Amino acid sequence: MKKLRRSGLVVFLAVIVLAAALVPAALGLLFAQRTMRSQEAERLNRVADAALVRAEDVTRHLSSALGEIARVSDQPCSAGYLQELRRIALEHRAVRDAGAFDHSGRWQCSSMLGAVALDALGGRALPPPDWRGHDGLIAWFGLLHMPSGDESLVFGRDGYYVAADPSAYVGGKGVMKVSGLGVINTEASRVIATTPTSDPSAMLALYRQPPDPAADGDPPYVVRRSMTMPIAVVVSAPREALPERLRSLPWGWILGGVAAGVALAGWAAFFIVRHMSPRGQLSDAVRRHQFIVAYQPIVDLATRRCVGAEALVRWKHHNRIVRPDHFIPLAEHRGLIQAITDQVLDTVLLELGEFLKRYPEYYVSINLSAADLTTPRFLDNLKPSVARQKVRPEQIRIEATERGFLDAEAAKEVIKAFRDAGHPVYIDDFGTGYSSLSHLQNFHVDALKIDKSFVDTIGQDAASSSVASHIIEMAATLQVQVIAEGIEREEQAAYLHARGAQFGQGWLFSPPLTAAEFIRYLGKTRKG
Ligand code: C2E
Ligand code: CA
Ligand code: CA
Repeated sequence: MKKLRRSGLVVFLAVIVLAAALVPAALGLLFAQRTMRSQEAERLNRVADAALVRAEDVTRHLSSALGEIARVSDQPCSAGYLQELRRIALEHRAVRDAGAFDHSGRWQCSSMLGAVALDALGGRALPPPDWRGHDGLIAWFGLLHMPSGDESLVFGRDGYYVAADPSAYVGGKGVMKVSGLGVINTEASRVIATTPTSDPSAMLALYRQPPDPAADGDPPYVVRRSMTMPIAVVVSAPREALPERLRSLPWGWILGGVAAGVALAGWAAFFIVRHMSPRGQLSDAVRRHQFIVAYQPIVDLATRRCVGAEALVRWKHHNRIVRPDHFIPLAEHRGLIQAITDQVLDTVLLELGEFLKRYPEYYVSINLSAADLTTPRFLDNLKPSVARQKVRPEQIRIEATERGFLDAEAAKEVIKAFRDAGHPVYIDDFGTGYSSLSHLQNFHVDALKIDKSFVDTIGQDAASSSVASHIIEMAATLQVQVIAEGIEREEQAAYLHARGAQFGQGWLFSPPLTAAEFIRYLGKTRKG
């Protein structure tokens, strides 16, 4: 249950971290797309504005050319008249040709062809105009095949005309980058001119289509109406403009950013998982020296005087004290136990080193794990530390459980080395292992600690009740001292003492204490 909640939390945090990495990337993309859309709309507006200015300009030129023709005083189609027409055509860049026609629309003359005989034109006449403006202006938007041989846009009034190249209306900056551009006469609803690649009927359809405010994003086309003339300009964006510009985005950077975000998120998730796992937290604890030591007094059962203490490690974790049963197995499993043993020794010498130096009759015993018993590493660490503090070797004792004897040969050697160096060795939790007796014979030790489970049954009728006294007898035979653990009641202390156990430890005498409390406790029992 707890594990489930923890892994749920880890997943939750990982999702948050991942989102934190991906959301900015997604927002960046969205933002880039929005920016591109509005840049695109802005560009369309600019092109449309310029195109309208140009269309108005060309219209003004054509209209003023017609005005100039009206003011020519020479007889229409005379030599002087034609010369004037040529001058006008030259001066107005948009004007390709100028000429006259009679009341029935038949050509009379052209600045390009001179005075043309009617038969030379095959009796051709102009078709009815496509549009008639209120000031007498007429126009043919349907591109007439002129005597000069060109397809032209023709404007006329009162029997004379100017012909213009339709491309004069559509051109200029930016035009090449839009897919459609058309100039429209709004009174006739006719296309005046479009760029060569535009579809005139599509341009007209866009012009007629009412703007749809519900359309998503910016519309891909723009219509601009002239304030002074019956013309409008339609500009449409290339359909493929967005995808094309998407392709030109700095994808390297975007993908790099996303990859970096994902990597960062992965690392953060790994970091979280690592630090939230019990293992990660325990190695943090080792790195940060989060261990403290409690000292449980050991007393002489005959005199009830304290002779020393057992050092018991605790993990100070988030202001909580974690008991060793909850983390020692993990530390042993994860190879962290040796570092913890070292920290316990350092703490003992720091807190009680001075005291032990002044009172050489007291000792502290330290619990070792199997890993500490396979090599002389801890002893190599212990020797100089003890010497530096001027503490006598027999004041630091070793407690080794039978689990530590699995690698029997190595343990035998390490135990011997401890004893040779002057550190007494105890067998801890004696009686709980299944080969305790053979251990007693094989390993030469100074004392054994009767496990609390055998002390608990004293005074009850249980069959195991007598185990404690058997162990004491056996220890006496082997000339090994006995320390009984977990004595809670006076009757247990009396029983064990009567059977010959020399030392005892348990709540009857004292619970584990801080270093300062332990020194105070000693002061009391010394007097008593
Ligand atoms: P242990 O070596 O058998 O230590 C005795 C345990 O019995 C201690 O538990 C102690 O607080 C508890 N105890 C003592 N008197 C009584 C009593 O009268 N009644 C009851 N109910 N309990 C009593 P603690 O401190 O929780 O330690 C548990 C075990 O953790 C220790 O058992 C020892 O095996 C291990 N341990 C403690 N410190 C270390 C250490 O520094 N290194 C290693 N490797 N193991 C340690
Ligand atoms: Ca112990
Ligand atoms: Ca024990």
